[in-house]
Amino acid sequence: MTDSNTTPERGGISVETAHIFPIIKRWLYSEKDIFLREIVSNASDAITKMKRLSSLGEIECSDEYKIFVKVNKQAGTLTVEDNGIGMTADELRRYICQIALSGALEFIEKYEGKSDSAENNGIIGHFGLGFYSSFMIADKVELITKSYTAESAVHWICTDDGNYEITPSDKVERGTEVIMHVTDDEKDYLNIDKIRSMLDKYCAFMPYEIYLEDECADTDTVASEPVNTTSPLWLKRPSECTDEEYREFYHKVFSDFNDPLFSIHINADYPLNFKGILYFPKLRSEYDSLEGQIKLFYNQVFVADNVKEIIPEYLIMLKGVIDCPELPLNVSRSYLQNNTYVSKVSAHIVKKIADKICNLCANEREQFETIWGDIRTFIEYASIRDRKFFDRVKDCILLRLTDGSHVTVEEYFGKAEDTDTAEQSSKEPKTIYYTNDEAQQSQYISLYTSQGLRVAVLDQFVDTQFITSAEGVYQNIKFVRVDADVSALTESGDVTENVEITELFRRVTANDKLEVKFENLKSTDAPALLNLSEDKRRMDDFMKAYSYITQSESGAPITEQTLILNTASSLYSHLEQVLSDGALERAEFMAGYIYRLSLMAHRRLTADELNEFLSDSYKLLNNY
Ligand code: ADP
Repeated sequence: MTDSNTTPERGGISVETAHIFPIIKRWLYSEKDIFLREIVSNASDAITKMKRLSSLGEIECSDEYKIFVKVNKQAGTLTVEDNGIGMTADELRRYICQIALSGALEFIEKYEGKSDSAENNGIIGHFGLGFYSSFMIADKVELITKSYTAESAVHWICTDDGNYEITPSDKVERGTEVIMHVTDDEKDYLNIDKIRSMLDKYCAFMPYEIYLEDECADTDTVASEPVNTTSPLWLKRPSECTDEEYREFYHKVFSDFNDPLFSIHINADYPLNFKGILYFPKLRSEYDSLEGQIKLFYNQVFVADNVKEIIPEYLIMLKGVIDCPELPLNVSRSYLQNNTYVSKVSAHIVKKIADKICNLCANEREQFETIWGDIRTFIEYASIRDRKFFDRVKDCILLRLTDGSHVTVEEYFGKAEDTDTAEQSSKEPKTIYYTNDEAQQSQYISLYTSQGLRVAVLDQFVDTQFITSAEGVYQNIKFVRVDADVSALTESGDVTENVEITELFRRVTANDKLEVKFENLKSTDAPALLNLSEDKRRMDDFMKAYSYITQSESGAPITEQTLILNTASSLYSHLEQVLSDGALERAEFMAGYIYRLSLMAHRRLTADELNEFLSDSYKLLNNY
């Protein structure tokens, strides 16, 4: 308290402040920039309080609310000025001088010596030390403030040893100026471009206009445009936002020229109470970074990037903004990890994403099909990782068929029923036929499609695992690769087996365990094809993936294929005839050739197999 206008009131912030100042400087070292966020958000809070008073009718105020950030290289000062509520001398003493240090000190004593700044910078805002973060870059801070009340203005000056003085000020306009005298070591903070980029990062969406001024520059060049957007899109009602606005916002915030695939606007009411917009970015190539960017805000003030706790790891490629007024401005990672509120927010986000996918599938099917190729890996991966998510989206998982069309799992059967009612109505598991390699498996695919059966293309790395998860989620469904089974391709009726032919094939393949089956296929073209049981092959795929991950030997590929001989094929009949005529050499040549053809339709030939095949082919052509 001042005795007269001429004698300044002097004091020390508190007995313990000797500890506070060096700690503020040291602990926040790696994220010094946040001081500006703290000071500007104090200015913004002061305006909000003023607005509230005015809206309650306590005071009449028709001012335009503004915040100025002024850089003065000559004077070495950085100033943040607002026309908010201001402080009286008493309030200044209470809010600024008698900072609630006891809690902070206790915390500091406990953690002193720990240098993990990501953890520790939480304390600054947490204990109401936000204002003092200015001492990270300043050795002297002045505060000139005029309360909205009739009381006159005060001028507070504090040096980095914690000593301050308060004198009256002749400031007449309501509001507060915080003048930071930047230390010699931190002269960077007098660089207007640096300040602009800091404001861009932390204050781009603060609710009141922020003007950046260079006090040493020509007055003509004084900024007339605010550096921020005061009403970010996420605050608007989703029903009032256009697609164009979502896209524009995306381009601006994420500096990505590409359009996102789609956006999700979340407006969660009590008790979660958060808003946000999430985007599915379009990845141009598989080499694009999968790391998205989720920006976390607290009442329009930027808090942190890539807060993984808010979004589950399997949706990490999302980009977006989440404004969460329920979380303190300074949150530590461990706080987020152990917070039930955060996990509820995360669960809500996942639900919203699932809802959006269902919505797109139900109402914008055509559009959904065009983006399916881009999103399916993520949706399938998320489905594998999160059963709840899978249950939510299971009716919207599309299968791309070999003819380029898309069907849901239900539609796959719905349409197939026309051609195969008997099988589908039985209690047997319903089968989805698929290929994981359209080129390699083309013969098999055409055997199915020529019978009007659909073949889904499941050719991504994630599909092997997805198929197995899907069989647990969709009731009574089995995925069968086109080269695993021929039961849907056979004509009914008896098939005559020919032991001599079986022997013949075992002989030419030098494999006396070769399993040979005779089938009467509907298609008469192929004389033989190889089948490999779905279960065995999956196990093999699993072992391969496992050995890939563990970098161990994967072992030999399984060779337990079954050779299916198509008794309906004319070539098969021809072979039977040659054999019964006793032309053994010809029969062996034919059998060997047929076997190699079936091998070729099944997988890539080895070097030896290919050489044999070529030399047999030349022999054949010579006799043509
Ligand atoms: P916090 O903002 O977390 O409360 P601070 O240390 O940043 O902690 O600020 C302490 C208090 O000082 C604020 O709560 C507010 O009452 C007062 N204050 C700070 N800056 C301003 C300002 N620009 N205008 C009015 N009051 C302010």
